[in-house]
Amino acid sequence: MAKPLLAGNWKMHGTAKTAAKLAADLANSSGDYPELIVFPPYVCIPAVVTELLAAKNIAIGAQNISHHSEGAYTGEISGKMLTDIGCSHVLVGHSERRTNCSESNELVAEKFAAAKRSGLVPILCVGETFEQRQQGQELQVIKSQLDAVVDLVGLETVCDAIVAYEPVWAVGTGETATPEQAQQVHSFIRAELGSGGTDTQILYGGSINADNAAALFAQPDLDGGLVGGASLEAEHFINIAQQIVEQK
Ligand code: PEP
Repeated sequence: MAKPLLAGNWKMHGTAKTAAKLAADLANSSGDYPELIVFPPYVCIPAVVTELLAAKNIAIGAQNISHHSEGAYTGEISGKMLTDIGCSHVLVGHSERRTNCSESNELVAEKFAAAKRSGLVPILCVGETFEQRQQGQELQVIKSQLDAVVDLVGLETVCDAIVAYEPVWAVGTGETATPEQAQQVHSFIRAELGSGGTDTQILYGGSINADNAAALFAQPDLDGGLVGGASLEAEHFINIAQQIVEQK
């Protein structure tokens, strides 16, 4: 059984000061919640690390990584730099980067490999667009996104990471996959991972909020969530985290 997990993608919001306040609010939240990971903007990571030093169950990740290890790559951040400042995880293949920065399946696979080389745990984001779902291509699209990574690093390495199913049409739109749609894709991903994927954490992401969380996390193959908008308020994020615990 995969362990429950909730990840918060803070995207390009806030400043070091507001990020530190959000981290402190999370660290001071009481109650029963699963493992948490927060993904602040790069420049806010040191402030968040300072706030979370004593918080045992909250890890810190980055929203992006260079596929290069080092060198003349102006504006890029390497995996070594991320571990050096206290990151343990990194998002790869988020739909906003696939779309806005033209990241191909092959580049995402290279970034996944770079994360592993540096000792980071990648969260591999996969998901179909609205048009692809309309044409019934969602499973085929997700398979090709997974296969690109498996072809480069091997199935076992993908099973050791975290996968997030994030339908592009649900990310930041207020639209959510129905629990049945999400479960169908999650069980497909689990089957693609094979026997090594039983314990792989497969997260759902796409406009999760306190009202839709319980029904989503009641599905057997949803091990947790990747939350954008609702992760910017500690109270909302913790509420969702507690609902995961109740359903698992
Ligand atoms: C995300 O950024 O991965 C995400 C799922 O965003 P939102 O929850 O705002 O849809």
